[in-house]
Amino acid sequence: MKRAHNFNAGPAALPLKVLQQAQEEMLNFNNTGMSVMELSHRGPDYEQVHNEAITLIKELLAIPDQYEVLLMQGGASLQFSMIPMNFLSKDKTANYILTGSWSEKAIKEANYVGNTTSGASSKESNYTYIPNKDSISFNDSDAYVHLTSNNTIYGTQWQDFDIKPTSPLIVDMSSDILSRPVPVEHFSMIYAGAQKNLGPSGVTLVIIKKDLLKHVPEHVPTLLRYKTHADKNSLYHTPPTFAIYILNKVLHWVKENGGAAGMEERNAKKARLLYDTIDKSAGFYQGHAEKDSRSSMNVTFNLKTEELNAKFLKEAKEAGFVGLNGHRSVGGCRASIYNAVSLESCQALQEFMTNFQKNNS
Ligand SMILES: *Cc1c(COP(=O)(O)O)cnc(C)c1O
Repeated sequence: MKRAHNFNAGPAALPLKVLQQAQEEMLNFNNTGMSVMELSHRGPDYEQVHNEAITLIKELLAIPDQYEVLLMQGGASLQFSMIPMNFLSKDKTANYILTGSWSEKAIKEANYVGNTTSGASSKESNYTYIPNKDSISFNDSDAYVHLTSNNTIYGTQWQDFDIKPTSPLIVDMSSDILSRPVPVEHFSMIYAGAQKNLGPSGVTLVIIKKDLLKHVPEHVPTLLRYKTHADKNSLYHTPPTFAIYILNKVLHWVKENGGAAGMEERNAKKARLLYDTIDKSAGFYQGHAEKDSRSSMNVTFNLKTEELNAKFLKEAKEAGFVGLNGHRSVGGCRASIYNAVSLESCQALQEFMTNFQKNNS
């Protein structure tokens, strides 16, 4: 069996070991004579999987007691709507820091609900950098401040979160959750769709401070209230059981590989390989992101001409590399190197890039 060099942006590569375990257990999970998909979500076999996943998330991200960990559906995109529905009142303004397409989509949903403002933006440069923290404006009327920790499409990433707004700080970590340790206590809420770093699509992680659950506007429907999910341990309605089962296995894999700190080290090595190739190419490859804003998850670059971009992508595909096309909104190339992408895949890509440059200079 040959596994692809998978650089897909999401859904993305999963650890081989996780897939093999799922395969072994597919027809008979835990001696139940059933697949995990066939179990009741109210029975002890599934509940064990569910609760263990939540416990592992708390452990791996060092989440303090004053937070709830929720497993929800609807992707990060539903969070874009739920956040203003739950936290944006008429007399306040939601403050979005704009660093890419996903931040734009988030503020768009908040605009359906109430008033928004943007305390900083790097749109004028086509999102090549993360705004300097001293340039961000916060206001007393902010209901919350929202940021995107890793910009999947442009390939930029917040390097530290050393900002201190007086209102709750909410972060979309869809594309870098658990790729490095983060100061959870710095945030009121963290959310992430699972399909980049945590598992398959279909489950969304929400880490939310218990304080935030207290005051919810009356008109918010039951399923769209965070409190509903918190009160029932994310079992108010049928959860995506198979996705949570795979999530559980990915979390075990992360733990076996050094936890968040282990992932950070592994990811830094992989990113360095590719960025070094870009930097040593004397302009043959041009990185999209400014150096101090570079993402360790999505490496975005362009070649000098559209023809050369197309040739690179075509030959890369023929050589067995998957998912290197840049997002349709920026073009060029993008290598997504989430936790489960191996160092070997990155080394193979580095070699391919070096050879391609030699043959086309
Ligand atoms: C992929 C992504 C999303 C969208 O996630 P869905 O689960 O498809 O809704 C949102 N934000 C970021 C930063 C992403 O990378």
